[in-house]
Amino acid sequence: MTADLLIHSARIFDGRTLLGDATAVAVADGVITAVGSTRDLLSSHGDAARVLDAGGNLLCPSFTDAHVHPIMGGYEMGQCDLSGAADADACLALIGAYATANPDLDWISGGGWRMPHFDGGNPTADLLERVAPDRAVYLINADHHGAWVSPEALRRAGITAATPDPADGRIDRDADGRPTGTLQEGAMDLVGSLLPAPTDGQYTAALHRAQAYLHTLGITGWQDAIVGAYAGHRDTTDTYLAAQADGSLDARVTGALWLDRGLTLDGVQDAVAALVARRERIAAAPSGPRGRFTANTIKIMVDGVAESETAALKEPYLDRCGHAGDHSGTSHFAPEVLTAVVRALALAGFQLHFHTIGDRALAEALDALEAARDAGDDGAARHHIAHLQLVDPADVARMAALGVTANLQALWACNDDAMTELTVPILGAERAGHQYPFGDFLRAGLPLAMGSDWPVSTPDPWQAIHVAVNRTPPGKDSAAPLLPAQALTLGQALAAYTSGSARVTHHDDAGGIAPGRRADIVVLDADPFALPARRLCEVAARMTVFAGKVVYAKE
Ligand SMILES: [Zn+2]
Repeated sequence: MTADLLIHSARIFDGRTLLGDATAVAVADGVITAVGSTRDLLSSHGDAARVLDAGGNLLCPSFTDAHVHPIMGGYEMGQCDLSGAADADACLALIGAYATANPDLDWISGGGWRMPHFDGGNPTADLLERVAPDRAVYLINADHHGAWVSPEALRRAGITAATPDPADGRIDRDADGRPTGTLQEGAMDLVGSLLPAPTDGQYTAALHRAQAYLHTLGITGWQDAIVGAYAGHRDTTDTYLAAQADGSLDARVTGALWLDRGLTLDGVQDAVAALVARRERIAAAPSGPRGRFTANTIKIMVDGVAESETAALKEPYLDRCGHAGDHSGTSHFAPEVLTAVVRALALAGFQLHFHTIGDRALAEALDALEAARDAGDDGAARHHIAHLQLVDPADVARMAALGVTANLQALWACNDDAMTELTVPILGAERAGHQYPFGDFLRAGLPLAMGSDWPVSTPDPWQAIHVAVNRTPPGKDSAAPLLPAQALTLGQALAAYTSGSARVTHHDDAGGIAPGRRADIVVLDADPFALPARRLCEVAARMTVFAGKVVYAKE
């Protein structure tokens, strides 16, 4: 028997468990053809076109990122990219250097700045004026729920003290009502809509840049969590379809079609019909030779984020003195609209993917899913809820009864600066004790999936797995673990990021290591099961295989 690829002398995690005796995998025609001992497979498949000695390191299914924005990430890598800045000064230095290097750009755009680096979480327009005087600047927050803009950008958008907040967002202001330079949620569009739209060529380059980067991390499949117009980006369906058709898409991609937030009850029927039409157009597109783009999922962003007090809570945020304040965040859909649209979408066969951060947002999503179930939805589409930061313990049982998958962005489940300085003070100690309850999800029997939300956070799965296991930030072992009873074991976290994420994205022939499975494989540069937990963040990919083809190799 000839094989295209033989990997031997590996420890093997098959997506659910460590295998006892098998240490070698043979691949032919894009499929795993044999799993067995190194001795047996070297004798039966030793003449494979390519042979890799894994050196005792781990082989497992390649990762599926269950919530990521690769085209946005790849696009930002090609702009004023602040994601590497360690503090406010570094951020301002990068912006100043970019402005100087690009004197003819009409707009300076990009993103990746982080709220904990600035007083009160929100940097001012004046800071931009200092480093990029008179320039129009629009920089998206790393969390993608806000933007930092310059005085010239405010002027071009006509935003003054007299401008009202839009229904779905907030213009941050000083005591006199003057805009200070950050725009939250839907208010981002007041400036974002003025920027030149990214071109097709820029999107194609962004996809290829992102795909190559994700391959270096062992990722060969993902859910693109927003396919549609959002925060200055336009629909990227055609970017994916073109890459699928020309054979340059080396990944399995599930697109989550974006549901517009301005929806009213009267508009539900038309919105669902339009989404059905988009699904049909994508399904009918010419199939590529390798990678595949499908879109049977709808993304519903139920609320915002905790740090900017736009997450929807059951009880009000605390004010600066620790007392209950006067607001409890924003639901982007009126409950009756959410229920109506979720029911209609579920009955049209769509998988639903919710963004919920606050406990009220989660409860509203569950109310809507229960209404869909009562109307005949059997849940076979594998609905999932991402982020799940603040969770009322009573709602875990409701999630279990519905069979929804918990889609975890585990990197956030620790006492980092955003948590200790911005989040805990506005939630209070008691609610802060109900965050990211991964252990409770598992004990309730929920299926788990994992993703990064890149470019909000690094797409490196080992940073997230590190936090899921340790509940401390990578490299900060001395930090107090966040609710250590909610930690996962390494095996549970790795299963979520491989078989769990493959399942929720309906990549049913990936996510496992067994004969007949698709050869989507990663070989690591270590055996994480033999490492102390505090070193999990050091693990990296050595070789990534997609559909039998080596798409990344370190050496
Ligand atoms: Zn996201």
